[in-house]
Amino acid sequence: MRVARFAGDDDPRFGVVGDEDGTPTIAVLKGDPLYAGYELTGQKVAIDDVRLLAPVIPRSKVVGIGRNYAAHAAELGNDVPETPLVFLKPNTSVVGPGDPIVYPAQSSDVHFEGELAVVIGRICKDVPAEDVDKVVFGYTVANDVTARDLQRTDGQWARAKGFDSFCPLGPWIETNLDPADLRVTTELGGEVKQDGRTSDMVFSVADIVAYVSSFMTLLPGDVILTGTPDGVGPMQVGDSVSVTVEGIGTLTNQVVSHD
Ligand code: MG
Repeated sequence: MRVARFAGDDDPRFGVVGDEDGTPTIAVLKGDPLYAGYELTGQKVAIDDVRLLAPVIPRSKVVGIGRNYAAHAAELGNDVPETPLVFLKPNTSVVGPGDPIVYPAQSSDVHFEGELAVVIGRICKDVPAEDVDKVVFGYTVANDVTARDLQRTDGQWARAKGFDSFCPLGPWIETNLDPADLRVTTELGGEVKQDGRTSDMVFSVADIVAYVSSFMTLLPGDVILTGTPDGVGPMQVGDSVSVTVEGIGTLTNQVVSHD
C-alpha cells in the first residue's frame, strides 16, 4: 500500500494511492495512518489535482547512516565503518516532492545523496534485528542533501546536512516492501549519476534499526536514511534532481538560489 500526504484546497491530509479507471487517485483517509489507522472518508481525488507533500514530518528526528556502501565510502577516501556511523538531521530539513532545495550561501559544494528511507511505525527501543519488520511502517525515497565543503571543515555534520530543505522525502510511503535488494538511482538533469542496489549496503535495514534503537528510543514517524551508493556529486542552482527507489517511486526536486 502506498500512503501519501497531500494538500488540496484545505489542510494537509493523508490517503492511499491507487488507480480509478486508469487515473492515479488518492483514497482520502480520516487521519494520519501512523496514529489513526486506515479509516477511509469515501472521498477520492485525482493525484494530478493535488500537491503531494513529504509523506511524513518526523516529530522527533531524522537519523542518517553514513558510509553504508563500500564504493561510496571509498569515493570520498573513507574506510567502511565497523559499526553503523550515525548522524542526525533536524526535522526542519524535511521537504516534499517538488519542493525546492535551497542552495545555502555558506556552501559552494552541495551534493545529492539518493537513499532508501525507513519510516518507523511505533515507539520502540532495543529492537532485535529479527523483529525490525514489526516496527517499520514503510519505506520512502530520500535525498540526503549534503554541503560537502562544510562536512569537511566542520567535522560534526549538523550544519552540512541540516540546512532547511536538505531532506526531501517522498513521493509516498510504500508499506509493503522487502528492502533487501532494491535498485537506487539518482538522475541530475536527466543524467544517471548514481545506480546502486540496497543489497550492497554494509549494514542492512534490520542491522541499522537494531543498532539505532539500542541507544535511542524511536518514535512513530521517525525516519532513518540508510546511506547512499557511490556516484555522489555536486548540484547547481537550476538543476533538477530525481532519486528513484525500485518498488517505491521517484522523488524530484529543483535546486534554487538562497536569494
Ligand atoms: Mg547520506
